[in-house]
Amino acid sequence: MDAIGAKIIAKAESFPGIKAGIASFDDILKAPSYQAVPDGRWNPFLTNGEIATEWPPNAKSVVVLGLHHPEDNPQLDWWHDGNTDGNRQLMQVSSFLKQWLHETLGLNAVPLPYHVERGGIFLKDAAILAGLGVLGKSNLVLNPTFGPRIRFRSILIDRELEPGGPIEGFSPCDSCAEMCRSACPQDAFASGSYHRPNCIVQINADIANKTPDVKIGEDGNSRQVIKFCRACELACPVGLIDDFIKG
Ligand code: SF4
Ligand code: SF4
Repeated sequence: MDAIGAKIIAKAESFPGIKAGIASFDDILKAPSYQAVPDGRWNPFLTNGEIATEWPPNAKSVVVLGLHHPEDNPQLDWWHDGNTDGNRQLMQVSSFLKQWLHETLGLNAVPLPYHVERGGIFLKDAAILAGLGVLGKSNLVLNPTFGPRIRFRSILIDRELEPGGPIEGFSPCDSCAEMCRSACPQDAFASGSYHRPNCIVQINADIANKTPDVKIGEDGNSRQVIKFCRACELACPVGLIDDFIKG
């Protein structure tokens, strides 16, 4: 890793619960997700109104941020008022880093929206190419420290930097009994790989079944939150059990 990349990662990881890596923007655009035809569409409700962002023509690298979403802090994942608190935290860190990158390193940085439809990138590909994890049999990125309990966000920068991944020698699924797959309430892995339309059935059911939060909203009523299914994620031992940390 070059010195500037190391400095950026150290700064990003100075925020609590953050892991960071760097990927080549070109490599991300050549990665599998850009070649694939999506099977099933997400509920447009989830595109959370973020402003569409255009990619600057001189974009060279992507700083990928991952925020730990531990099981004992489920609120980070609950959807309310158009977003999750975890995503709000990632947006704040991105915004701070944009300013720091400019003031400290003279780099122009563009934090990207979450959704591809709004100008975001495929974050799983980006995380893997940045060295933040490998793709598990759950179809989730498995980070060596946090397992699949991590959410990503990205920032484009106008400097070519050495990419951090993919990680080699880390393949925890090889020695696992696939608890992620048996935990799925929609049998999304029945065919032997992830079948997104089944997962979307669960997501839409979760949206329809909002539950009251403990917090009281501005109107004095208990706020309604969506608790999305995390069964495959929470069943995975990576990041929780020492043997699985090494893979
Ligand atoms: S539960 Fe096992 S098979 Fe599934 S993603 Fe985790 S390590 Fe891989
Ligand atoms: S999020 Fe839930 S429904 Fe979707 S694949 Fe994972 S366990 Fe299945």
